[in-house]
Amino acid sequence: DSLSERAFADALKSVARNLQLKQYVRQSAEWYPILLRAAERFVAGDVLERGLFCRDALDAQGYRTSLEYIGENTLTETECTQAFQEFSRLIEACSKGRPGTRISLDLSHIGLSVDEDLSYRHLEGLASQAEVAGLELVISMEESAKTNSILALHRNISARFTNVGITLQAQLPRTLEDLEQVLTYGSGTIRIVKGAYQEQEGQYIPRSETLTSRYIQMVDLCVQAGRAVSVATHDEPILRHMTRNEVYRGAAVEIEMLYGIRTDLAKQLKDDGFPVRIYLTYGEEWFLYLCHRIAEHPPNIYDAVTRSIAG
Ligand code: FAD
Repeated sequence: DSLSERAFADALKSVARNLQLKQYVRQSAEWYPILLRAAERFVAGDVLERGLFCRDALDAQGYRTSLEYIGENTLTETECTQAFQEFSRLIEACSKGRPGTRISLDLSHIGLSVDEDLSYRHLEGLASQAEVAGLELVISMEESAKTNSILALHRNISARFTNVGITLQAQLPRTLEDLEQVLTYGSGTIRIVKGAYQEQEGQYIPRSETLTSRYIQMVDLCVQAGRAVSVATHDEPILRHMTRNEVYRGAAVEIEMLYGIRTDLAKQLKDDGFPVRIYLTYGEEWFLYLCHRIAEHPPNIYDAVTRSIAG
């Protein structure tokens, strides 16, 4: 039932954020390689070079790609600056390869949880570097307590750069109004997701047909406004709706799916001629990412374990 599913997801997310456990995994010569191998079902690896390697492999198969250096809620200025420097290294590396890799990031990874100005300065530096390299940044959306700040920072950066997109969560009741606002400024891609965060009861629209129709309504608003939109979901009915309706073909609509999830569907959609982007992550926080994917969809634990044993 949904209560115990929620309890399971919450427990896993606490495990993911447990600092002692994180230290232990990092230092354990025994567990680190086994768990990393399991995580590689969903994460490119622990270092940038692995991210680039997987990106090239996907590129050769005809997918577009997004790359993220995993992290969130960084709590010291030094760590925020380190994250900024790693993103800078990522942009530098992507500027040399084939064009088109999109860089994704959480603002709380580069400073939002410490100081809004710090995250803005870091965002500005990355947007400027990405602009020169002809790359696009897309800001992720975090829990609802941060929505106002994230949207305000996106609005400010959009006044100076045209290459910064934003993610919006269909599950929040406020999002239709936010989308109307976002459509009035900037020109970056709008990525629509259902929403990954466990919000308070009554503060979000649960997975349902109502949420599906809202999701499609948001995509339609972007299409009507002529704005580039990323349909970031694995929900087959939504994706079939996109590929069956001519209106979405030829428009600036693409499908974006997480690496390692519903790869069968991603391939079908790509082979059917729809642009499909794969969202790829790397970094030393792979353990956090693995726990999130399992919390979202518990059967993933079997896939991860099988991969680890096979490896
Ligand atoms: P669901 O209704 O959750 O799932 C539909 C079906 O997809 C499921 O029945 C299952 O078959 C399959 N599926 C879904 N998740 C998994 C999984 N983990 N493993 C295996 N199968 C699965 N969320 C945010 O809150 N902020 C963000 O910035 C953000 N960025 C994202 C970027 C991209 C490119 C993507 C694809 C997702 C992002 N998300 C983000 C996560 C998103 O909000 C959802 O939590 C996630 O996509 C699962 O929802 P869904 O749309 O696939 O639909």
